[in-house]
Amino acid sequence: NTFAEIDLGEALNLNIRRCKYVKPTPVQRYTIPISLAGRDLMSCAQTGSGKTAAFCFPIISGIMTAQAVQRPHGFRTVFPLALILSPTRELSCQIHMEARKFAYQTGVKVVVVYGGAPINQQLRELERGVDILVATPGRLVDLLERAKVSLQMIRYLALDEADRMLDMGFEPQIRKIVEQTDMPPPGGRQTMLFSATFPREIQRLASDFLSNYIFLTV
Ligand code: AMP
Repeated sequence: NTFAEIDLGEALNLNIRRCKYVKPTPVQRYTIPISLAGRDLMSCAQTGSGKTAAFCFPIISGIMTAQAVQRPHGFRTVFPLALILSPTRELSCQIHMEARKFAYQTGVKVVVVYGGAPINQQLRELERGVDILVATPGRLVDLLERAKVSLQMIRYLALDEADRMLDMGFEPQIRKIVEQTDMPPPGGRQTMLFSATFPREIQRLASDFLSNYIFLTV
């Protein structure tokens, strides 16, 4: 069982080889096929399990193979196709760095936004175009309120370390964000929820945000 056997598209498979990934980790082995098949999933995954690649690969592959999507032109509003939410600046930047390596020369653009830093530089990055937006919840709500970002074209939503986001009090922001990604079928989004623990609050998020989902513990 190697990455060479999984068809993620030529450019992405090449980048995976460049990263020297040969064998999928357990979380990748189970989540990537489910996700490529278009199913929602909830996965209990710890840091270090390889979950970043597990949600990035299907997203990048999906965006690469989708027909060129007609996106609205807003006045300085951008329309990403995928959103990755994570609790902290550090984690968001880490995801962004990895996602950029995976998306190298695929034409898929990845941008990160987070709080505690000046917004202007992030706005300039966004205006250069964004397919995959990596964000912390607070800064994203700010950008939505300023109408700098619209989530109406979101096809893929990944929530990373969901339990930590709830511990940090981000549930209202997360709900506000996810509400804005609800496209009517058949365009509707595909959602992946990653969490190290599965308490009642996470179960509630899963049942509110995921449809007909597969639950995986690795
Ligand atoms: P993560 O759990 O996503 O933070 O990944 C933990 C570390 O494992 C990162 O440094 C990844 O680059 C690395 N990694 C992820 N998947 C693989 C793989 N299939 N083979 C080798 N290294 C990997």
